Amino acid sequence: MSLGRVLVIEDEELIRETVALTLTEEGYEVMTIADGKMALEILQLQGTSPSDSKPEFQPDLVILDLMLPNINGLDLCRLLRRQGSSVPILMLSAKGTETDRVVGLEVGADDYLTKPFGMRELVARCRALLRRQQQFHPPSAAPSSPPSPTKAPPSLSYFDIGMYPEECRVIVRDAEVNLSPKEFKLLELFLRHPKRVWSRDQLLERIWGHDFIGDSKTVDVHIRWLREKLELDPSHPIHLVTVRGFGYRLG
Ligand code: CA
Repeated sequence: MSLGRVLVIEDEELIRETVALTLTEEGYEVMTIADGKMALEILQLQGTSPSDSKPEFQPDLVILDLMLPNINGLDLCRLLRRQGSSVPILMLSAKGTETDRVVGLEVGADDYLTKPFGMRELVARCRALLRRQQQFHPPSAAPSSPPSPTKAPPSLSYFDIGMYPEECRVIVRDAEVNLSPKEFKLLELFLRHPKRVWSRDQLLERIWGHDFIGDSKTVDVHIRWLREKLELDPSHPIHLVTVRGFGYRLG
């Protein structure tokens, strides 16, 4: 049994094959693609009818190179997130400036690795991302008998926001919204501690953990995404508010 399915999207053959070989040896099921447009086609197949004749590979993790032919990694990442995909994305890049890292995270990548990188570090990052994903999206039961969504009131709620933590579901104004694992974890923390002010550093430590390499701008970016999904007017948030000089608060 494989530890998970990893889609490697990278046009540099040496890196692509080395990463694929390493992850296969670690016990992952790996598929490789060298072209951005083909990658989008494969990923867009997810959720289409099972009768679709094209092969289906639903990755648990995507390793995505920034510079790719046809569609670059940033655009691909942005498109996937816009379509509501919450698959963890580890972005690879030859660039290593803070701006590139922040842009990568802004478009929805979960982590970022700068070339050249060691295979041990890559494996560690993959493991961490998959572990976090599984915490929030535990493997579902047999697809033939999907559990029906709970009709009971959500166990965590705030005004028009309701959360069913056990089911990893969030309802906003009576509609189901798709949150990435990090957005979900952030919202859960806020809902469990209404009115409490959280500093960016506290949020980084609670949500991203000690092993995260990045800075507090990451928090701002995720708060912005969360507002876009929760607030009626994301540029004038009334729920997830900024407490100037301190951080963020729900309510
Ligand atoms: Ca490349």
